[in-house]
Amino acid sequence: MTKIGLEIHCQLTKLKSKLFCSCKADYRGFEPNTNICPICVGLPGSLPLLNKKAVEKAAMIAMRLGCKVPPKIGFFRKNYFYPDLPKNFQITQYNVHGPTSIGSEGQILIEDKMIRISRIQIEEDPGRLIYEGDPGKSLTTFVDYNRSGTPLVEIVTEPDFTTPKQVRTFVNILSDLLDNLGVSDTSLEGALRVDANVSIDKGEKVEIKNIGSFRNLEKAIHFELVRQESLAERGMPIPSETRQWDEGRKITISARTKEEEQDYRYFPESDVPHVLIKDQLLEKLKENMPESIISKRERYVEKYGIPNQVAEVLSTDKFYSDLFEKAHNENNAKEIANLITTDLMGLADTKEKRDQLKLRPQHLSDLADAILNNKITRISAKTAIHEIAKTGKPLSEITSELDLGRVDDESSLLSIIDEVFAEEKQAVEDAKKNIETVNYLVGKVMKKTKGKANPSVTLEIIKKKLK
Ligand SMILES: [Zn+2]
Repeated sequence: MTKIGLEIHCQLTKLKSKLFCSCKADYRGFEPNTNICPICVGLPGSLPLLNKKAVEKAAMIAMRLGCKVPPKIGFFRKNYFYPDLPKNFQITQYNVHGPTSIGSEGQILIEDKMIRISRIQIEEDPGRLIYEGDPGKSLTTFVDYNRSGTPLVEIVTEPDFTTPKQVRTFVNILSDLLDNLGVSDTSLEGALRVDANVSIDKGEKVEIKNIGSFRNLEKAIHFELVRQESLAERGMPIPSETRQWDEGRKITISARTKEEEQDYRYFPESDVPHVLIKDQLLEKLKENMPESIISKRERYVEKYGIPNQVAEVLSTDKFYSDLFEKAHNENNAKEIANLITTDLMGLADTKEKRDQLKLRPQHLSDLADAILNNKITRISAKTAIHEIAKTGKPLSEITSELDLGRVDDESSLLSIIDEVFAEEKQAVEDAKKNIETVNYLVGKVMKKTKGKANPSVTLEIIKKKLK
């Protein structure tokens, strides 16, 4: 049977400082090796001091994933020699004498499959190796320790997945959950990295390391399953090893034989004392935890009558739900949900576009009110939203600049409809015979008015004229 388990590393990007020192947790944009101190590069004699906020954020993740949080947590040294880790061990958590990691035995429902979370641990991120050109051929390797010591939470699942597709769905849902919880901005490069353990019947466990994109994760697991099955078919052994995803060739390649847990010689980190996790702290965190995606979705449907599918899109993406929360009131909620999910989506579907977006909650609220008060048509609203996204000008200015005000009065509509009737004789005859085709004529009027005609008034006038 195919078994796939995941180890997901999530950086707690919303924290100010690293896990054991006061260097910045956000290492991005620094010159190499300038965001470091004796603690995060592990100089002899330096003493780590645990960032309590990291423990709180990790506890929130554990609770949201239904994990048990123990009354006391502890840290361990995981020993290994690699240039990205100058002190030759990583401070992490390890459940050896009972649970001492921040969470264990959780679960999360993915579509109709329950995925068990075996544990969640807090650990420090290593530094980064930068190769000159192709990593396989590079003669020079640089080390940048700016990332070293960044707070990470590792989420380990049981091998409950059976297909690459399930994995991708899970990681999507998990990243939305982490964004929504306000612990991480998972869209940042390197903020969410996944290792996948893949095995088939009679084969050993193969680990694919450090996959940064969900699309590649699905591809890498798919490739690995095909590779293992073809080995098995030919009666060849599938050794336990660590493999790497080669983005260019779209294959996994052998990196090294896999270390066994005992190779890491875990032992308690005596420089970081145990931390008591009091019930009062957990209660306080629970109270202040952002509303879950599921409860948001239910509220949108029940309170505002937003259709289920729209509510789902809106609640899963924190960017959109934050906009919605700031923009809406009881009356315009449904219209705003509509504007976000139909008109805004294409304008804000990447991080770059979101960073450049000039639209603010007030714009959405003004626009929804204008639609509801019949001051602008939905078609014009689409034009307006594009313009606002680019310029950030107030709606009133854009409406007059682009002349988007709705054409309601019958006399001006009538002359336009007369024009259309004169130009579209055949369509008029068709509509007389079959009223279903009348939309063609309405469309022509909309086109002539650049989408400003009131569609229902237009339809009424046309129907009258056809009789
Ligand atoms: Zn530091």
